[in-house]
Amino acid sequence: DHLQQMQQGASNILVAVRARPLTKKEQEVDDHQIVQVLDNNVIVLLDPSDWQNIPEEAFRQNRTREKQYAFDYAFNQNASQDSIFEKTTKFLIDGVLNGFNATVFAYGPTGAGKTYTMIGEVDGPGLMLKTFLEIFSKIEEMSGERDYTVKLSYLEIYNEIVRDLINPSMETLEIREDPIKGVVIAGLTEIMATSPEHVITSIRNGNRRRTQEPTQANETSSRSHAVLQIIAEHRDKASGVEAEVLVGKLNLIDLAGSERAANTKNRGLRLIEGANINRSLLALGNCINALCEMNEKNTKVYVPYRDSKLTRLLKDSLGGNCRTVMIACISPFAGSFEDTYNTLLYANRAK
Ligand code: ADP
Ligand code: MG
Repeated sequence: DHLQQMQQGASNILVAVRARPLTKKEQEVDDHQIVQVLDNNVIVLLDPSDWQNIPEEAFRQNRTREKQYAFDYAFNQNASQDSIFEKTTKFLIDGVLNGFNATVFAYGPTGAGKTYTMIGEVDGPGLMLKTFLEIFSKIEEMSGERDYTVKLSYLEIYNEIVRDLINPSMETLEIREDPIKGVVIAGLTEIMATSPEHVITSIRNGNRRRTQEPTQANETSSRSHAVLQIIAEHRDKASGVEAEVLVGKLNLIDLAGSERAANTKNRGLRLIEGANINRSLLALGNCINALCEMNEKNTKVYVPYRDSKLTRLLKDSLGGNCRTVMIACISPFAGSFEDTYNTLLYANRAK
């Protein structure tokens, strides 16, 4: 299975799809589900025009036009936050604690469950907190042999501008490349991650500073990509003060909504925002496609990292010996068919 391949280094990209439950409001409008999950890795997408024009009976008997897509993992509406963490992120942590970089991102339209997956809720924390808990417990286990320092930064990319979410200022941050340190964001705040409580407070405060502008599609739709960077540095105790410091970096990303600018009837600034969001998401998709092609053909392929701020930022954390996990979030609501279909196509291209 792909996960095994990934663990053995044969593949570096894992693609998962998570379908959320229908909300109460959606159920009142139309309680059909257009998404079904089979065998933990197949998504079946039903075309709502089928049951809107044909008798209910046909839908119940599954005589509908449908499309199927296979992924490394497909999670249905009952998948727990724990199982998402176990399957998509936990296996990256050993690498990060040994000096490798990795990236996990949630992709999908506004309202599909990206923030729920990455950040979660008080009684169901998401990947960000679970990752820290796992890192803290692993570090504790190794405290006899290694000294670790864990730091975090939190930033957003809004309109192709990088902003610090820990120490916000009007200043826009520059992305630079350092031959030794890799990608560096000049002036970005790094704070020591001392406890789970401290971490969760920093993330929640950072979130409140994210750029959220009302659009016609959704009042709280996120127009920015939020990037949490976990930096784990260590040295072996046995080698004394001369020991080399190894640095591993894990990026956990809550991407901006993938719905197209055209869908929200945007004008002016909103239109520019939409274009910039598309630019980053398109660049991300193109980089991942190039990396997949490289894996498949085992040859060098040009990877267009420079096409957006997001991909420039991730240059040292996508491809090479880095692991990348995409979690595409989808809604089973009939009214979201277009968005769900587009999201499945995007995720399908990344395999
Ligand atoms: P996004 O960040 O993609 O815009 P959210 O994560 O904010 O979407 O999710 C939209 C709504 O759906 C929220 O009210 C959230 O609590 C709920 N939701 C999302 N995913 C799930 C899930 N897997 N289980 C239960 N509720 C969910
Ligand atoms: Mg969100």
